[in-house]
Amino acid sequence: MKKELRRLKEHIFYKDPEAETDRPIVAAICGKHQTLIVDAGNSPQHAEGFLKELAKEHVANIHMLVLTHWHWDHSFGAKQLNIPAIAHEETKNALERLIPLKWSNEELDQRVAEGTESSFCAEMIKKEYGDNRNITIIPPNITFKKALEVDLGEITCIIEHVGGDHSHDSSVVFVKEEKVLFLGDCLYPDMYSEKWNYTVDRIEALLDKLENYDADTYVMSHQFPLSKEEFLHYANLLRHLANLTVATKGDKEEMITTLSIQLGRDLQEIELLALTYFVNGVHSTQVPVSK
Ligand SMILES: [Zn+2]
Repeated sequence: MKKELRRLKEHIFYKDPEAETDRPIVAAICGKHQTLIVDAGNSPQHAEGFLKELAKEHVANIHMLVLTHWHWDHSFGAKQLNIPAIAHEETKNALERLIPLKWSNEELDQRVAEGTESSFCAEMIKKEYGDNRNITIIPPNITFKKALEVDLGEITCIIEHVGGDHSHDSSVVFVKEEKVLFLGDCLYPDMYSEKWNYTVDRIEALLDKLENYDADTYVMSHQFPLSKEEFLHYANLLRHLANLTVATKGDKEEMITTLSIQLGRDLQEIELLALTYFVNGVHSTQVPVSK
């Protein structure tokens, strides 16, 4: 069953993520005069469902779209939304490179074999679209290099490029008056390498940027929104794991033993997963672990 719209704050609505076909959170930030949509959804069906739910809530003046990064699940619904889109210039470049691609099973499988498509994404595209691969890529209309401020009428959104392991073009959207930070997927690992990974330098640089925002709610696209406390707990875990990765040169067993002793318990699944991403980052990429 499709999820209904939820109200995150007085001026922000969002639709739950849907793991079955990797649909991310899509959101509407409603100013006095205009509404900004965060991410286009992973298909025309996803975008259309969101628009219908916004209409039920009488959300009007849908004015602009912002893309947090180029990945299919955040951008392929753009044609259905049919409104001007803002994104980082690298997001535009990446989407333009997708325009000539075809999306049949054969072509997706070939790109996975070549290493230019993630097998996880290929499977999810097949599942979301079934046999009807009506995919039209619409590159964004307005691009920025570093940051951009959008005034929706008594609600201000600051869009900033933050990068990170997941996708180099990742940008966040900070809704100043509501203290909400939309993180897109920037805190997730790189999924386009053989092994999903985090790298020490990129995670530290990313956390330095994210911790500058005075938010009380943090929205990562594929999970339910986090409180400040929950976000800081995860950010601290990542910082700690980054230090352990450097100290042990990415020795997985040593990292697990050390962290278990420090915590006084066995590791939870999320801790072990994040630790494994750091280990993969040392052993499968060229990025040196150095401080
Ligand atoms: Zn992504």
